[in-house]
Amino acid sequence: MNEVNRELILTNVSRRYGNVVAVQDVSFSVAHGEIVAVLGPSGSGKTTVLNMVGGQLQPSSGDIRIGGKSIAGLPPEKIDAATVFQDYALFPHLNVLDNVGFGPRMRSVSRSEAAKKAMECLSLVGLSEYGDRKVTQLSGGQRQRVATARALAVEPAILLMDEPLGALDRQIRLRLQDELSALLRRLEVTTLLVTHDQTEAFAMADRIAVMHNGRLEQIGSPDELYSWPRTEFVSTFLGGGTILEARAAQRSSHGSVRAETVIGSFNCRVNCDVPEGASLRVLVRPEHVSLQPAGTSEVSDLKNGQVANVLNNGEATRTTVRFGDVTIESLQLGWRQMAQGDAIDALIKRDGPVVIVKEG
Ligand code: ADP
Ligand code: MG
Repeated sequence: MNEVNRELILTNVSRRYGNVVAVQDVSFSVAHGEIVAVLGPSGSGKTTVLNMVGGQLQPSSGDIRIGGKSIAGLPPEKIDAATVFQDYALFPHLNVLDNVGFGPRMRSVSRSEAAKKAMECLSLVGLSEYGDRKVTQLSGGQRQRVATARALAVEPAILLMDEPLGALDRQIRLRLQDELSALLRRLEVTTLLVTHDQTEAFAMADRIAVMHNGRLEQIGSPDELYSWPRTEFVSTFLGGGTILEARAAQRSSHGSVRAETVIGSFNCRVNCDVPEGASLRVLVRPEHVSLQPAGTSEVSDLKNGQVANVLNNGEATRTTVRFGDVTIESLQLGWRQMAQGDAIDALIKRDGPVVIVKEG
């Protein structure tokens, strides 16, 4: 790919439909060659963001820049971006090669140049033998590869993908997540990927932008979002866990605070100063909770729980435990002998749980 600036910057972008605010004051950037996933539940505004970058929709306010230049008011064909849609939107009357060569042809490249570029892109996605096929004779996974090759063939500054793997079976989806992200990294394609699937965002993206009700809740690397979720929404949308109300037993020190909850006390991570007595919200992830039969150990943080549910798959044991009104989940490696109704104590990993921002 040639040396141009392929950075994408959104600044205070909003989009309204009458009274509905589909996207509200969203700002983030995608660096040259970076893969950013926009992750959120259905209706959170993901597609609206993508379509504003692609020029299919105009923002109500705010600015979008590609390679330093504002795209305000430009129609899609004047924007240096290509989109892969969930339904692939391939041309059924054209064969695979002509589908992929379509973009270059539209950009007034000669027929033979376009075919050469199309072949190159088909081989990138492992379909060099399929040029003559009708697209109607391809599997879902193959159609997705053709759609990706077609988008790459115009060498867009920005690649936009809207739930690109959403229609595929689990197995092929997992394989394409690996293959696609490796290809995009190798080609240094600046990519904005929309998905509602947490595992897909984790598998493919350098950074994840979490959206909720039209707003950007948090953006960061998968590790940052999982370890330091800022809001309740981010903490439960990415991974499981229980949020508990707590009180700081003493002033925090060295990023750690002792949290007193109604079911027991334990140490949590915190990234700001917390005074003694402050009210807190703490997130306890299942992998931070290990269980033991009640009364068998001196060291336990939560006592006299009752097993409500056990899921064993050989690899790990996932247990739901009740301490009074509070339900906690535990995830432990291997097969743990436990049954519904068992009395248990729990040990919370020291500085495993994290203090999250109190909302409202
Ligand atoms: P997502 O892709 O995250 O599922 P969308 O961006 O498609 O969400 O939609 C965000 C919000 O905007 C939703 O509440 C949706 O109902 C609303 N919306 C989207 N398109 C329109 C439209 N053309 N007219 C009115 N409301 C719309
Ligand atoms: Mg959508």
